[in-house]
Amino acid sequence: DLERAWQNDKDHVIHPYANYERFHEDGSVVYTKGDRHFIYDDKDRKYLDGIAGLWCVNIGHGNVEMAAHIGEQAKNLAYFNTFEDATSPSAANLAAKLASLCPGSLNHVFFGTGGSMANDSAIKIVHYYFNMLGMPKKKKILSRNLGYHGSTYLAHALTGISSTHIGFDLPKDMITYLSAPYPYRRPDEMTIQEFCDSLIEEMEHKILELGPETIACFIAEPIMGAGGVIVPPDGYLIKAYELCKKYNILVIADEVVTAFGRLGHLVASKEKFDVQPDIIVLAKGLSSGYIPLGATVISETIHKVISRPKPENPYFSHGFTYSGHALACATGLKNIEIMEREDFCGHVRTVGPYFKKQLKTLEDLPVVGEVRGSHFMLALEYVKDKRTKESFPAEINIGKRIYHSAKKRGLIIRPIGPINVLSPPLTYDKDAIDETVDIMKKSILETMNDLSKEGH
Ligand code: PLP
Repeated sequence: DLERAWQNDKDHVIHPYANYERFHEDGSVVYTKGDRHFIYDDKDRKYLDGIAGLWCVNIGHGNVEMAAHIGEQAKNLAYFNTFEDATSPSAANLAAKLASLCPGSLNHVFFGTGGSMANDSAIKIVHYYFNMLGMPKKKKILSRNLGYHGSTYLAHALTGISSTHIGFDLPKDMITYLSAPYPYRRPDEMTIQEFCDSLIEEMEHKILELGPETIACFIAEPIMGAGGVIVPPDGYLIKAYELCKKYNILVIADEVVTAFGRLGHLVASKEKFDVQPDIIVLAKGLSSGYIPLGATVISETIHKVISRPKPENPYFSHGFTYSGHALACATGLKNIEIMEREDFCGHVRTVGPYFKKQLKTLEDLPVVGEVRGSHFMLALEYVKDKRTKESFPAEINIGKRIYHSAKKRGLIIRPIGPINVLSPPLTYDKDAIDETVDIMKKSILETMNDLSKEGH
């Protein structure tokens, strides 16, 4: 039966971001069950899930309380939506809960099924808002190189990873990509402070060049995830937000990865970074991946405008079959209840620094250029030469090689070019951390050995 699944997958499944050449050789690993931060394949091999599926299974796999709750809700009311005058207790109560968690006056929630949809919704809300205010010229969007915002046409266009743009005609005309706040890759001669200042200068220069009256919003992950876990210099976010305020540009915080415990807080913008966005975008850890769910949380100010449209444009015409999905929202509510009761954020704040400290010891290895990140959002960047930070040639695929080596040893990590990401379920404990660091070390050493045999 499982053999059939493997074959069916090979014959019929389109895999996101698959490298088809490799994929067709080996086929897929068929994962069959999960338990906290462990996951098992069809041969009953056990792995540490070092990436929480895809930065999302924050409460861990196989949570029986969650499973029971989903079953109950499905029996009661699996589906209804929030169209027109409809709602459900779970959609209404989750919206209220998110309003209580989000900072400032962010108190109205538009639901969808994931991060891309939530970002698309945020942009449509912003455009509609400025139209309603009689400022239809305010359409342009500031994004950043290496920012990741999703895979629908617009969310992909917001994504500043240009290598992924090839082959598509993404609607990029309204988007300007600012430099990535990537301290490790800053110009050699600059201190981090100078680098930070230069990013802000660049941003202000771009705003003035484009004309603030044409710019609707700035979208940014507080820490970039899929771009390679890039932590901006201290003060960067605050200063970027200040510029936006100065020029009447709304700020969208894409907290799809950073919220729900990964950085030790349910929402990171205010609690960790001391910034106040106009819109916060949530997904992934919002439901810990048990059911697809995304949310766009907007400020009272924006809501007041979009909820009182002018007679000539009476509808905010935007919505999905699964907006306010009763079962998905019930899952989100239960997820937050479990996280708060079990104090997952406290756990992450306690063991996160240990995780980073242990992983940092790998910087002693000659190919580990930098270990970076925060709490349960960490990455290693590999370089050929630590002094010059010269990268390995892309075709060597160092991140992927180390990923395969770690998988063989029972640890799943995420390869992104010359970077490996670690973003485990929040159940990860010291034992799991120690085992992860040990496997990473062995996998890096094995890969270095292979590379040197191949003459690199
Ligand atoms: N925003 C960020 C920061 C993400 O990391 C992701 C997904 O990885 C998305 C948006 C897109 O979310 P989804 O894949 O649920 O559409």
